Amino acid sequence: MVLSALHIPTLFIVTAIVIAFSGLVLVMARGRDTDSGAVALWGLAMLLGAAGISLLALETTQGETAHRAGNITILVGTACSWTAARLFGGRRPMPWLILAGPALWLAASLLIGRGSPQALLFLACVTGALYTLATAWELSRLDAMPGRSRQGAILLLVLHAGFYLLRALGLLLMTETTWLTDREIMLAMMLEALLHTLGMAFMFLALSKERTQHRSVTRLRELALLDGLTGIGNRRQFDVALARETELGQRDDMPLALLMIDVDHFKAFNDVYGHQAGDDCLRAIAGAIQAAARRPGDIAVRYGGEEFAVLLPRAEEEGGMVVAELIHARMRELAIPHAGSPQGRVTVSIGTAALPPALLSGRGEALVAAADHALYAAKAAGRNRAWMASQLAAAQAALRPPEPRSPEPRRAEAAASLSRRAG
Ligand code: GH3
Ligand code: MG
Ligand code: MG
Repeated sequence: MVLSALHIPTLFIVTAIVIAFSGLVLVMARGRDTDSGAVALWGLAMLLGAAGISLLALETTQGETAHRAGNITILVGTACSWTAARLFGGRRPMPWLILAGPALWLAASLLIGRGSPQALLFLACVTGALYTLATAWELSRLDAMPGRSRQGAILLLVLHAGFYLLRALGLLLMTETTWLTDREIMLAMMLEALLHTLGMAFMFLALSKERTQHRSVTRLRELALLDGLTGIGNRRQFDVALARETELGQRDDMPLALLMIDVDHFKAFNDVYGHQAGDDCLRAIAGAIQAAARRPGDIAVRYGGEEFAVLLPRAEEEGGMVVAELIHARMRELAIPHAGSPQGRVTVSIGTAALPPALLSGRGEALVAAADHALYAAKAAGRNRAWMASQLAAAQAALRPPEPRSPEPRRAEAAASLSRRAG
């Protein structure tokens, strides 16, 4: 009853005002993040939609020009929504495709004139639906992220495209007017446009907010694994990687090598040059170590203080020694002066150890202990050198497979525990 009393041109104007307002909210809401361009363009697309609807409302008084301008403006707006979704997904706009739909419709309109308004409406519905489906497609290609707004936006877009395709089908089969009046169709079109635009404005804002949050969380996670001074991985990253690589090595039947690196006479360096210079020196050494860990999968970290570690998946001890020599070569190139060192420049000592695949699982600590023994042997032997764990009895002991416990002591333990309980 209430709907049938609505004045159609007034409904056009109210719809246009609400859509324009939603567009303005999006244009104003754009922040300083990387999505701001996409959000603003989406807002602009809505403003164009509102302008197009206003022009269509003028159609009755202004005739063909307003009709053409209205349809073209709406189609350009729809193409802008699609472009906003492309920008949001980090893809480049395609200007010729933005113009293709409106240009096609204008050409048809000039050709047909007002002779067949049904054909022009059909073309507008199909073109708009195609842009809308392309928008949904762009959003479906976004990287997965938590939250439901992406699915919500895609659903709204598919429903919107479905509505226009249904309209086009009705025009094609000329069935719609048999059960709906022109006035009811107009009402349905305006209400649908209103609800769709409001829903999309909300969804697009939520989508942008969700992604900003998702990026912040990802960035914080990355930062939690980086060393603040040198920018390479930190001890936490090392622990995570060691646990992962020992399991992966066993599963993929690949050995794992580890380098433990300690800067020589670094306390003396700080004493002579000051802590600031000490920090710069640590940054330079971190760069040298990271450059030496060249293979994808190699992980260089600051283990703590002036100690570094490099994990080399799929490498034996000899491979570790090759990387150790590369680090020494880079340190020679760096040639950072060190008056408190017998070498006259900053040097490092390195201990290398590796475990075969069969012994890797759960033996990360043993690998670290072995590389540590080798490092301190390198220190004891005069510093500025690399030692292999296999050269040392203590380090080899750390790497030996754990002894299977014989049944005898276990039986004795069980008997002792039983007698304790009995006592
Ligand atoms: P060695 O050759 O036996 O390794 O001698 P060293 O002097 O390098 O070893 P020591 O353990 O005695 O001293 C380590 C020094 O590293 C002391 C500490 O002030 C310095 N250090 C640790 N972390 C940092 C840091 O973040 N910045 C600076 N500037 N110095 C640091
Ligand atoms: Mg040390
Ligand atoms: Mg040291």
